[in-house]
Amino acid sequence: MRKKLLITALFLCVMLSAWACGKDGGDNSPSPTGANEAVTPTAEATPTPEVTANPETTPTPETTPTSEATATPEATSAPEATPTPETTLTPEATPTSTATPTPKATPTPEATPTPKATPTAKATPTPKATPTTKATPTPTGTERRKDSDPPTITLEGDEVVTLEGGVWYKEPGFTATDKKDGDLTKSVKVEGEVKYWHVGTYTLKYSVKDSDGNVATAKRTVVVKARELPEPIDPGPMTIYLTFDDGPSGYTQQLLDVLAKYDVKATFFVTHNHKEADDMIIAEHAAGHTVAIHTNTHDYSKLYKSEKAYFDDMNRMADIIEDLIGERPAIIRFPGGSSNTVSKKYSKGIMTKLTQDMNELGILYFDWNVDSRDASSDSPKNSTKWWDPLVNNVINGIKNRTKNGKFSVVLQHDVKKFSVAAVEDIIKWGLENGYTFKALDLTTPTTGGVHQKVAN
Ligand SMILES: [Zn+2]
Repeated sequence: MRKKLLITALFLCVMLSAWACGKDGGDNSPSPTGANEAVTPTAEATPTPEVTANPETTPTPETTPTSEATATPEATSAPEATPTPETTLTPEATPTSTATPTPKATPTPEATPTPKATPTAKATPTPKATPTTKATPTPTGTERRKDSDPPTITLEGDEVVTLEGGVWYKEPGFTATDKKDGDLTKSVKVEGEVKYWHVGTYTLKYSVKDSDGNVATAKRTVVVKARELPEPIDPGPMTIYLTFDDGPSGYTQQLLDVLAKYDVKATFFVTHNHKEADDMIIAEHAAGHTVAIHTNTHDYSKLYKSEKAYFDDMNRMADIIEDLIGERPAIIRFPGGSSNTVSKKYSKGIMTKLTQDMNELGILYFDWNVDSRDASSDSPKNSTKWWDPLVNNVINGIKNRTKNGKFSVVLQHDVKKFSVAAVEDIIKWGLENGYTFKALDLTTPTTGGVHQKVAN
């Protein structure tokens, strides 16, 4: 038995590799324990252990890696299977961009749809995505190659525009066309601002880019000039300028009738707050009165926000007047007067700026030096002549001006019934006392207390 065991052990030693038994294996193996265990090994001894041993040592490691290698890719391949198409798509995307070498602008937006298509492709199998993405870029790519010409910008109106006396800048317009892209007018960018309330030279730059990145530009020069005013002529202390603000209104016709009755000329600082009375502006002008601007809205909160806000509003009214009478007034009155402090609430220093702007542009602004105080409207209605207090205010004011050797500019409002009713008495008094009534014009001096002290 021992011999048999030894032989078996030796045999195993020969068959197995070095470590299995060790060099001294044969000698040591015959241990006491071995006897008992020997039985089991014997049965298995001959071929079985070898077979088992073999797979473990030699091939097992090889097969294991192999199967692992396969296993790993499988596991990864499932999620990667989707990425794979991505890599396939990427090269396709690349041709797209290669197809468009010159262009920069359009390719980018079109490149965006491509990635959008890819996520969809991930959900579905690879093949579907590929054709879809291929389909879109190809035709576009071919189209793009054609255009290397820049678009054309055509300016309407003159290349040099001259504005005088605070008339606002209105863009005369432009068009832009491109051989490939067609009408690009809406894509034209205009840089620069014409501060038409400041004398100076302004440049507007127009530019437009086509889908291939070709750029076209154009320029317009806007010259803002001051209006040339005639030399002022002092009308003397016996001259009365009746001025009426805030109209026209429903009372304006009545006023025009009185003025006509005595052949007296007056000045109307008009607004657009009573649109229904707009035709009164035509009547005022036709009767030889002066139509001047009091702004379109008379809304302090809008007007006194900025110079631009004021001038824009003023020009809106000037446009309306010009449409009605064919003339654009160069005479204005600030709502609240140039000395108003209400404007502080909307913009500090705005009256200082606006009065300087008017002087610089050759626009005559008039305040008043006789206040009827009709704005406070505290007329005693129980009196027979309930406008008497107002008449007295005016007469006293005029007398005071005359005493100082100055002409009178009287402030009234033709939106106030009692103020309009007082006019006839004022005129009668004036004519009886040797006064002349005149309408303001460009020769009327703005000195002599006509300009109040700017307080903002
Ligand atoms: Zn007013």
